[in-house]
Amino acid sequence: MTPGVQPLIAGNWKMHGLRADGLALAREVAAGAAGMPAALLVCPPFTLLAAVAEALAGGPVAVGAQDCHPAPKGAHTGDIAAPMLADAGARFVILGHSERRANHGEDDALVRAKTEAALGVGLTPIVCIGESEAQRLAGEAEAVVTGQLDGSLPDGFAAGGGVVAYEPVWAIGTGRTPTEAEIAAIHAAIRARLEARFSAVGRGLRILYGGSVKPANAAGILALPHVDGALVGGASLVAADFLAIARAVPRG
Ligand code: PEP
Repeated sequence: MTPGVQPLIAGNWKMHGLRADGLALAREVAAGAAGMPAALLVCPPFTLLAAVAEALAGGPVAVGAQDCHPAPKGAHTGDIAAPMLADAGARFVILGHSERRANHGEDDALVRAKTEAALGVGLTPIVCIGESEAQRLAGEAEAVVTGQLDGSLPDGFAAGGGVVAYEPVWAIGTGRTPTEAEIAAIHAAIRARLEARFSAVGRGLRILYGGSVKPANAAGILALPHVDGALVGGASLVAADFLAIARAVPRG
């Protein structure tokens, strides 16, 4: 953890959830959220955003989206603009997730433009970065991650309270994770880069870890220096598991 930084446990539901089960999951998370040592966030698919935001309004669990278009509106069939997300009740948006980088060819420049769009309407961006397995095996993990950081974050990122999520691509949905020492090393490198670019403000930005976080491994990961919470995929679809991960955050 980083002293003085409120941890965040964020659930990325990806392309899961019809109305009835998505709302039930959101309500179950909210019902268990009292007294947690971390802020909680759920990121449902676009179709459930407004309904989940309405169901959770005024409560302790925030709502976020999983992507946005860089333009505020226009002829972009099937895309969703950042002002639409804010209008639907989102406060956060995940950007540059490795599944978007891989499946939709998103590069750092596009992620940066999307992040600017999100900041422009007061959304908190959660910008994802992470190396492939081949890059880690080649000893390039730190260089890849810091390069993505430089390319994906706009200058207004720190002033807008942006969040970075380190998600090694090979750890997402695989049940595999880096060692705690490897996670700590990358988070320290990210912190150093944030401080170099954003000075004192960079010291207080949240850096989440994501990639196969489960109740069984959460306590060890969340106790590491510069790990200020987690971005959780699969385990966020089971309220009890998501809440158990949040409870594993060390109390400051
Ligand atoms: C993710 O996709 O952001 C993620 C971390 O997934 P999982 O927890 O399932 O590895």
